[in-house]
Amino acid sequence: MNMTAAQYLESALAVVKKQNPHQPEFVQAVTEVFTTIRPAVERHPEYFEHCILERLTEPERVAIFRIPWQDDRGRIRINRGYRVRFNSALGPYKGGLRFHPTVNLSISKFLAFEQTLKNALTNLPLGGAKGGSDFDPKGKSDNEVMRFCQSFSTEVYRFIGPSSDVPAGDIGVGVREVGYIFGQHKRITGEFEYALTGKDVKWGGSYVRKQATGYGLIYFLHEMLQENGRTLDGLRLSISGSGNVAIYAAEKAQELGATVVAMSDSTGYVYHPQGIRIELMKQLKEGERKRISAYADQCSEAEYHEGSSGIWAIPVDVALPCATQNEIDADSARKMADNGVICVAEGANMPTTNEAIDVLHDAGIMFGPGKAANAGGVATSALEMSQNSLRLQWSFAEVDARLKTIMQNIYWLCARTAEEYGQPGDLDTGANIAGFIKVADATIEQGLV
Ligand code: NDP
Repeated sequence: MNMTAAQYLESALAVVKKQNPHQPEFVQAVTEVFTTIRPAVERHPEYFEHCILERLTEPERVAIFRIPWQDDRGRIRINRGYRVRFNSALGPYKGGLRFHPTVNLSISKFLAFEQTLKNALTNLPLGGAKGGSDFDPKGKSDNEVMRFCQSFSTEVYRFIGPSSDVPAGDIGVGVREVGYIFGQHKRITGEFEYALTGKDVKWGGSYVRKQATGYGLIYFLHEMLQENGRTLDGLRLSISGSGNVAIYAAEKAQELGATVVAMSDSTGYVYHPQGIRIELMKQLKEGERKRISAYADQCSEAEYHEGSSGIWAIPVDVALPCATQNEIDADSARKMADNGVICVAEGANMPTTNEAIDVLHDAGIMFGPGKAANAGGVATSALEMSQNSLRLQWSFAEVDARLKTIMQNIYWLCARTAEEYGQPGDLDTGANIAGFIKVADATIEQGLV
């Protein structure tokens, strides 16, 4: 190498910034990874010769497409769709679809980049991708959602398939949306092919997929706490969001003896010091698709507060961001430190800003990075793919046991790698280096691709 590892990282990051000027989330995700992987680049000078940093920050292919659909009044509506196939060094592209008004190229690329490293940590044969649309399912009728999903599928059917690219859900895409996309894919291709995961268990879905990211987060958290001589029993938790990840993280945490005292959505949060009633939350959010304020209307012990970021000022032992990117900034992290939070584990993707991560590290707060802590969803999607290939369905208990083992293995991989590279206890560094090395080595082994 004719430059030091630090110089190589710096110059590669400068190129990423220059080539992606209007993509702050993507640049943020790459910056976060590059600030932690220097010891690995130092140990592997061949990465420089093989242009690994350049190759790992350039998606293999990006599709941007028009999605025309008709609303219930017969009006023509146009949305924009994305599929970023970031990296296929380790297997077919895999990563969710997000339907949310904020979806753009930067968000799709940061998610696909993170997904590549996350998938590497699972030890399963998965490449990384992500996509979705700026369509907002909120306030749309079921028929409108179906028509939109059918139009989306009419475009993406061309590049998804069981051994090429297998999307799943993410924000705004649950079993209902996966069902509509799958149904249209089947009509167009004439095949009952397993090109999506997150399907309903009646027609090829896996048990535990719905619970997987939330349960997996808690299994990961359990390992983190145990390693530091603690358990979940008796701890107080705040969990942002009240969607798929948040609800099942709350369910598993309460099952293991913790008290979840607060949850949120994009409009506000509820504080329920005696502990969130999870069945009521499921009924309101999953069943009736209501705002979280409805929880306080139905539960007199709970208070509703406008504004979702206020949740981080509540004194708790553990904070689990499970809503969206950049929801914990440096100020929120400082409040957590002042309130004696002992651990933050990310259920969402990149919910903590890079400045906030520094604050947490400086305050000695345990930190579980999303690409490790929320990998249970994609890992269970891979188990769904295995069951589909075998034309079998495993029981809830069997999938749950596999998920737990995978999360424990991911924890230990991160912890061991952090130690090996001179940063004991730094799971963020451990996760980034472990994922990076795996993708980098596979890339070299596959020639100039
Ligand atoms: P859902 O759509 O089921 O739920 C999202 C939750 O986050 C909702 O409560 C939503 O509130 C809230 N939220 C969304 N955007 C914002 C915002 N800008 N500010 C505050 N709250 C917001 O999504 P998931 O639970 O599936 O996903 C949550 C996070 O977990 C995402 O970061 C996703 O990428 C990540 N993730 C998900 C996986 C999965 O298997 N589903 C796997 C791994 C990671 P509202 O309803 O008001 O919009």
